[in-house]
Amino acid sequence: MERKTEKVLGFDVDIITYNNALNLVCENIKNKTGMHIITINPEIIEQAHKDNELANIIKEADLVTADGIGIKIALKLKNVSQERIPGVDFAENLLKYCAAENERVALIGAKEEVIIEAKKNLERKYNGIKFVYTHNGYFNETEEDEIINNLVNSSPALVLVATGSPKQDYFIKKCKTRLAKSTFIGIGGAFDVWAGKVERAPEIFQKTGFEWLYRTIKQPERLKRIYKTLPLFLIKAIMDMKK
Ligand code: UDP
Repeated sequence: MERKTEKVLGFDVDIITYNNALNLVCENIKNKTGMHIITINPEIIEQAHKDNELANIIKEADLVTADGIGIKIALKLKNVSQERIPGVDFAENLLKYCAAENERVALIGAKEEVIIEAKKNLERKYNGIKFVYTHNGYFNETEEDEIINNLVNSSPALVLVATGSPKQDYFIKKCKTRLAKSTFIGIGGAFDVWAGKVERAPEIFQKTGFEWLYRTIKQPERLKRIYKTLPLFLIKAIMDMKK
């Protein structure tokens, strides 16, 4: 399928409905086509402007979904409507699909106790889900090679990597050459949500695009990170409007 994309500060973002993106990825999981999905937000774009390797990884990704509200606003400034595709929610629907279709899943990321709890909760929620490999997100280069070998041996159809950006993106890039049939998605702090360590915002915040506000109130340490990036990102997006 031909991708329809729109540039946000130099990076292609897919213009696609949530449901079409979900169907596309599920189809790829089924056919073992192998793909890399990036759930992009203003922080990743700002980082990529300073980091060539990350910029190239984004350019080579097969699907770049609009995660943050900032991306939605930047597209709106170009008169393009795009619904938000929140990474955690999207990945959970992929897990639902894998459970129903008996597809093999691997989880990499977060602290050991978090990934154990997340796995337990997901197994309870998605009966029969087949986690073929899990590893926490704190590893050195030697361990990284071992993890990739283990992934190759467990041949997952879907790999969820939740070590935060850009770490998760570098890791996926390294994996991809040896796991050409697997679908990879980087999903930041998702395991913390599934482990029950971080709540998702109530639906009203999610639907109105204010999940970031709720998360910031609950985790004030995020404030510094968001406000270091978002205003400048929006100013640049306004300047980019006519391009
Ligand atoms: N993390 C990790 N390895 C690291 C650094 C972070 O596995 O070396 C995990 C961390 O435990 C947390 C996630 O990565 O679960 C990052 O979450 P964050 O909220 O920063 O990501 P975001 O959702 O904002 O992209």
